Amino acid sequence: MISKVGIEVIDAHAHFMTYNTVKAIIERASRSTDESQFEKIQKRVSSLTDMKEFTLPDEKWDAAQMWVDELNKYGITAIGMMVGTESWDEFTEARRRFPGRFLGYANINPADENAVELVKRAGKDGFQGIKLYPTSWSFHASDEVVYPIYEEALRQKLLVIAHFGITIGTQADLRYGNPLDLQKPAHDFPELNFMIAHFGAGFFREVLMLMYQTDNIFMDSSGSNSWMNYLPYDLTITKIFEKALKAGGPERIIFGTDSSFFPRGFRYNILEAQYNAVRSICPQFCYSDDDIDRIFRGNILRITGLSGLDRTEDD
Ligand SMILES: [Zn+2]
Repeated sequence: MISKVGIEVIDAHAHFMTYNTVKAIIERASRSTDESQFEKIQKRVSSLTDMKEFTLPDEKWDAAQMWVDELNKYGITAIGMMVGTESWDEFTEARRRFPGRFLGYANINPADENAVELVKRAGKDGFQGIKLYPTSWSFHASDEVVYPIYEEALRQKLLVIAHFGITIGTQADLRYGNPLDLQKPAHDFPELNFMIAHFGAGFFREVLMLMYQTDNIFMDSSGSNSWMNYLPYDLTITKIFEKALKAGGPERIIFGTDSSFFPRGFRYNILEAQYNAVRSICPQFCYSDDDIDRIFRGNILRITGLSGLDRTEDD
């Protein structure tokens, strides 16, 4: 399938938000304060992101069908979804209905007593990875408590994705936000692949250093990368790609949009901007059209061990 920008595209980073996901988010948040949580979330979302409108998923929504319609509209081959336990079954069903269109990454909180069990289940259910949120769930990626999770991820051949740096939630604890925490696990698990979301969401310098210091850490380009507004120097998306390519090469950058909610749907503007940015600096920093294909499609398949997208439970 050829996308609207003219090449085949897999979006490696998005979120499968269903009625149950949003319900769980609001319930978790409402334990800490009594202000209307929905209004609060909506306020932050509209002031800090490009999402002007935000519609709560309805119980009757068919999220799987809505996403596939979006993918077809823009010619996107597949999309990688972060999935919470509350929407796990719906997601598994979505993959069954639309084979090859969804990659799955299970959100894992190392503090959950059944965390390792969930990683195992993710492998058995045909997920491609797991997602860790150190700043939201207050742990260092290098903590001992996370090691059994890495061990199971390795057994299940799952990619480990981590969000460091700033995030939309005010509660995020930046003491756990430094991607350098990943260096030790990356050395201890040389066979495991790690992907840092949003180029490190502010810790860009650290992520670039990790490109030098490790072999199995990759960076995803997802989202608006508005973290660049919180750095003491000027960056543009083109400059970010230029630096990332110089430090990591085209094999270690993975395209993503961080698409999540409707009515915004698939964030085509991000694909367009990032594709134009990469085009403008290749071939100076890339080597060929094949390298562009790696960034926008090939790398995510390679690091999740997918040659096609039809991995099933009995693999
Ligand atoms: Zn995300």
